[in-house]
Amino acid sequence: MASYNFAAGPSALPKAVLAAAREGLGDWDGNGQSVMEIPFTGEAFARIHSEAEATLRRLLAIPSDYQVLFIQGGAYGQFSLLPMNLLRGRESVDYAVTGHWSQRAANEAKRYCRVNIVADGATNGFTDIPEWPEWSLDPAAAYCHITSNETANGIQFREWPETGSVPLVADVTSDFLMAPLDIRRFGLVYASAQKNAGIAGLTLVIVHQSLLGRALPITPTVFNYELLAAANSRINTPPVWALYLAGLVFKWILAEGGLAEMAARNRRHARWLYQAIDESGFYHCRVAESARSSVNVCFELPTAPLQQQFLAEAEAQGLHNLKGHAAATGLRASLYNGVSEAAVSGLLAFMHDFARCHAPAA
Ligand code: PMP
Repeated sequence: MASYNFAAGPSALPKAVLAAAREGLGDWDGNGQSVMEIPFTGEAFARIHSEAEATLRRLLAIPSDYQVLFIQGGAYGQFSLLPMNLLRGRESVDYAVTGHWSQRAANEAKRYCRVNIVADGATNGFTDIPEWPEWSLDPAAAYCHITSNETANGIQFREWPETGSVPLVADVTSDFLMAPLDIRRFGLVYASAQKNAGIAGLTLVIVHQSLLGRALPITPTVFNYELLAAANSRINTPPVWALYLAGLVFKWILAEGGLAEMAARNRRHARWLYQAIDESGFYHCRVAESARSSVNVCFELPTAPLQQQFLAEAEAQGLHNLKGHAAATGLRASLYNGVSEAAVSGLLAFMHDFARCHAPAA
């Protein structure tokens, strides 16, 4: 029986990447050492690192005045590290709260400075993104933060807010590398790797160089963006294996046709799934159509027991990890780059059969 993984993260990796990773487990450097055993100060790791960065720069067309940092601590760590590194003598920051993760990011920033909530999606139960022309932006804010895709709530930005001279900062963790991204629209973007850039343990930060050098004195050395940039992300031991995996994923995306191809696949998969939900009269998606995530498709069934039954039967048929986030009851299918068309087709067929068996007769 085929087995498919719809987890929100850590999540499905492309099979070709997993196959390639086996090479890294063997005699990788010709001296009998695997990637996990090589010194991070040596030439072999320098090659892994620079190749990964070069491929990422090519994929996203990252301009040369942006630095790419490879850090540990997860996106959650960045929730603190952003104000620590970017406050620059200013007193406040702007946050758009559009779901679980931006709420967490704003809460964490409150430990360091005044947080101005420019838009609050909680007022509509996180079913839509408040229209950005109506956001209460503060021109004196150190930055304005958004979460491009709310992994728990299934909400995604389709266009970026205009923030004037205030740098736009985005948590792009769950839709990173799923479509082209105009880096120039941002002062900084960051992403945990375990969705579309490999495995947990690595966080990517892409930051404009004008934002470096403004860290608070309490910022830990190993998380200081300016020092990280100067040390080529090697102040202390980097997550060697995670960086190697990220490099393999970047190469795979390039070989598959790049980010435009990833976007075309994802749009196709999401369209099929939302269509199946909307046309069923049985499944239901609470998110407004204009804000629906193409990545984390959240939906519900008429009753909690039916949802339990759905999950149990799906598992039995090899369709794994469809339970929604604890903060948003219901079901969730995550359609990352590593989720194949066969997986989506399998899910659609199962959903169709389940609805036929359980939908009340019209
Ligand atoms: N932001 C978003 C949008 C996420 O989806 C997640 C994790 N699911 C995080 C932040 C936190 O990432 P981590 O657990 O790697 O710190």
